[in-house]
Amino acid sequence: MIKKVLVANRGEIAMRIFRTCRVMNIPTVAIYTHVDRGALHVRYAEEAYCISEDETDTSYLKPDLILAIARKTGAAIHPGYGFLSENADFARRCEEEGVIFIGPSADVIAKMGIKTEARKIMKAAGVPVVPGTEEPVNNIAEVRKVAKEVGYPIMLKALAGGGGKGMRLVRDEEGLEEAFRLSCSEAGNSFGNDAIYIEKYIENPHHIEVQVLGDKYGNVIHLYERECSIQRRNQKVIEESPSPFVKEETRKKMLAVAVEACKKIGYYSAGTLEFMMDKDQNFYFLEMNTRLQVEHPVTEEVTGVDLVRDMILVAAGNPLPYKQEDVEFRGAAIECRIYAEDPENNFMPSPGVIKVREAPEGRNVRLDSAAYAGFEVSLHYDPMIAKLCTWGRNRESAISNMARALREYKILGIKTTIPFHQRVLHNETFLKGNYDTTFIDTKFDKEDLKRRQNNDPLVAVIAAAIKHFEQEKEASARMTTVPLVGESLWKYYGKLQMTANNY
Ligand code: ADP
Ligand code: ADP
Ligand code: MG
Repeated sequence: MIKKVLVANRGEIAMRIFRTCRVMNIPTVAIYTHVDRGALHVRYAEEAYCISEDETDTSYLKPDLILAIARKTGAAIHPGYGFLSENADFARRCEEEGVIFIGPSADVIAKMGIKTEARKIMKAAGVPVVPGTEEPVNNIAEVRKVAKEVGYPIMLKALAGGGGKGMRLVRDEEGLEEAFRLSCSEAGNSFGNDAIYIEKYIENPHHIEVQVLGDKYGNVIHLYERECSIQRRNQKVIEESPSPFVKEETRKKMLAVAVEACKKIGYYSAGTLEFMMDKDQNFYFLEMNTRLQVEHPVTEEVTGVDLVRDMILVAAGNPLPYKQEDVEFRGAAIECRIYAEDPENNFMPSPGVIKVREAPEGRNVRLDSAAYAGFEVSLHYDPMIAKLCTWGRNRESAISNMARALREYKILGIKTTIPFHQRVLHNETFLKGNYDTTFIDTKFDKEDLKRRQNNDPLVAVIAAAIKHFEQEKEASARMTTVPLVGESLWKYYGKLQMTANNY
């Protein structure tokens, strides 16, 4: 049985997992780096261990240390997403050292972590895959040859890729050599593996993915699909379920194919099969994420399932607590990823201290966040600071609820993607539900975002008030004299305070 859970992660996902542990009455262990010592996940857990060697050490990639803490505390390890979550060696060491790893087998993580391997396995299991190479391409001559065979446009992709990094669209032979060189070096830098393979670029694709859940006894179920086609830099920013684009007949096929494939590879725990779908509803396997996905709340909202709870139960050796026919699908849910990024400036990172934070509340709103006023968003980590998710009995109502929640959500001190989300919710293409991954580049008016920001009368009034306040403060600072001898400092500061309050 699992008596304690250590989350080898930080931020909102650490909080997400701890909350379920609390529901299950399982004590929790946090790990943290020096810069994260004030973070919420550290305060929330029953025990917390610093894993930094010194003040400058920001790494969460410490397998030895994390395993030592898990053994010492008697905890199972949940890796969250990112960091060690798809590191097969780490999962294997857990298996060998008697620490329960709350995820799939090391073997399956290893196979799915190499995209060309995953493609081969899925193909053999009867899943349609994006046309392309089954082996890495090693030099420019080979790349040229294969690109011709596959047919332009193509995608150069890192074998070990993730997080939207290490891939490049190439439309014709002219830019090929340069793109190949850049892709190799980016892949090497990001993943410590510079191998590249080629996929056909699917034009105007929809990113549709299937959530699966399996146990160690061969039972696998699906928890329906998520549409994740609103992306910037090949990374998701908005997700929803059900997909407004997929037809019922296609949905059935996709879900069945995903479950069958997972049965064949002996998959257990939560996982996601990602697909590209073209305008004619042809779908192709893209990759499998052998972990809890960032956007899993969308699925939880429409099915009522707690994926973290089920991952813990499965890791402890329990069979799945329900069957496919017990899963009820209700209404629609949508998630907006709140990044500390400037949507007006090409989504550049916007680190800094959060000065004000007012969180949305109320009916059908779910916020997964690790932000608070005073928290410093560091450049060292992923810029996603929260996920806002809303539910509705249909898509329209989920979207209206999201619009309301976004209006209530105030974060000052850093730029966030909140204004971007508000614009998307008014976009006609988005509202119609027929948007693809080119949406931000082709259907979204970025200039409109700037105009709206600059013309907002409320912002103008607030800016004027701040300016006025600052001028007055400056003036009163100039007038301030040293307290007279004999006047108590308390009285003196009291008076200053009263002057300040008058503004
Ligand atoms: P998903 O497919 O689950 O939506 P992505 O494909 O965007 O997610 O990949 C997971 C993302 O999580 C990556 O962008 C990675 O940089 C990011 N990430 C890694 N570690 C963390 C972390 N500790 N907190 C937040 N994000 C992280
Ligand atoms: P990652 O591991 O970084 O998540 P994926 O292979 O899942 O990489 O691809 C991420 C995104 O990149 C997809 O959702 C899609 O928008 C784009 N993409 C990847 N491969 C293709 C392709 N062959 N055709 C069109 N778009 C693609
Ligand atoms: Mg992916």
